[in-house]
Amino acid sequence: MSHPFVSHFQCTICGAQYEPDAVTYTCPVCGPAGTLDIVYNYRKLHKTLTAKQLTKKTPPTMWRYGPLLPIIEPSYIPPLPIGWTPLLDVPRLANVLVQNQLWLKDDGRNPTASLKDRASAMVVARALQMKAPVVTTASTGNAAAALAGVCASVGMRAVIFVPAKAPPAKIAQLLVYGATVLLVDGTYDQAFDLCVQAAEEYGWYCRNTGMNPYTTEGKKTAALEIAEQLGWKPPDVVLVSVGDGSIIGGQYKGWHDLYELGWIEHMPRLIGVQAEGSSSVAKAWRDGTDPATMQPGPADTIADSISASLPRDRVKAVRAARATNGAYVTVSDQDILAAIPELAQHSGVFAEPASAAAYAGLKEARKQGLVSPDDRVVLLLTGSGLKDVNSAMKSVGAGYPVAAEIADVRRVVEQQGLAR
Ligand SMILES: *Cc1c(COP(=O)(O)O)cnc(C)c1O
Ligand SMILES: [Zn+2]
Repeated sequence: MSHPFVSHFQCTICGAQYEPDAVTYTCPVCGPAGTLDIVYNYRKLHKTLTAKQLTKKTPPTMWRYGPLLPIIEPSYIPPLPIGWTPLLDVPRLANVLVQNQLWLKDDGRNPTASLKDRASAMVVARALQMKAPVVTTASTGNAAAALAGVCASVGMRAVIFVPAKAPPAKIAQLLVYGATVLLVDGTYDQAFDLCVQAAEEYGWYCRNTGMNPYTTEGKKTAALEIAEQLGWKPPDVVLVSVGDGSIIGGQYKGWHDLYELGWIEHMPRLIGVQAEGSSSVAKAWRDGTDPATMQPGPADTIADSISASLPRDRVKAVRAARATNGAYVTVSDQDILAAIPELAQHSGVFAEPASAAAYAGLKEARKQGLVSPDDRVVLLLTGSGLKDVNSAMKSVGAGYPVAAEIADVRRVVEQQGLAR
């Protein structure tokens, strides 16, 4: 069945257009850097549909935006409730920064505890439509956990390539969900290349970030939700951490789709946050270089989810900042660790390092004058703090050992000034 609103697939580098699904991964002319956009017939959508109609009687999940998504047949939609995560107004956190308006989009609340669920659900829907026997991915952890979880929900086989050094909680998720887990003695980038080779050899459907155009369409739903949650009045700025660049690329695509539809009056500025030790995209943005020809760079950060030597969605990632008058900032591992408790203690949201990096990035962007106190700001928080407890423990002090006696409790209470 052909899709009523998908117009074509388009290469982000050379602009070549392809019939929908005529190309499975990247542009055959431009190679792996030539990621594809799934382009809709915006005029037809505009005529058929208003924002109000779209969101009436729709499920509280990412699938509420049906006509704006590339898969619409209900029978392919995985049953786990993904998306429609809360957008939290956090005045106490805003006060810390003297920011008038600040919201947290808490995507750690997804079923496998990261934003990656959105992309995995979209890819599994496509895999069901294609009748693929196996779905595979390489991942620093969260994309894999998301794929394993969504596959488990529909009884599909998943083969996962993950660096053996990924945080244990993420590896545990893979195993518990029953995926076949290959613990690669190497980096994420090496796992990525292995996964591509194996997918080709065995005819598996590959979810790899950037490479698979459906991932962006899943991730864009976070932008659609923010827009709806703010009454279709977009924020001035969205900040999000960037590894491969697929989440920020999805933000761009979501806001772009809404703008093309005429449902929003402007697009927010998109600010990408990278770790100092893994900052290839920020560097390309700053130097004005062509992301398509980027060479692998260092990838050394405690924030494992944003550690990427050759970011796979680099073309979309650079475009997101350039085309929205946005920016990139970098933050140190120390800033990232400090952000975890500061964010948690002023909002109640516990974020993993890569997620808390967005908050560290907001502080840096304020310092550089890229964000003003009057800007309406959304931080896209991408993953739960429970994903990486070891890093979280480095960001806080220890508890107080007490004997099992009230006298010892009194000692601590008095020390802490908690006694009345
Ligand atoms: C994947 C991920 C990111 C970065 O997303 P990219 O698409 O690789 O840029 C950030 N935070 C978390 C928690 C992630 O899992
Ligand atoms: Zn191309």
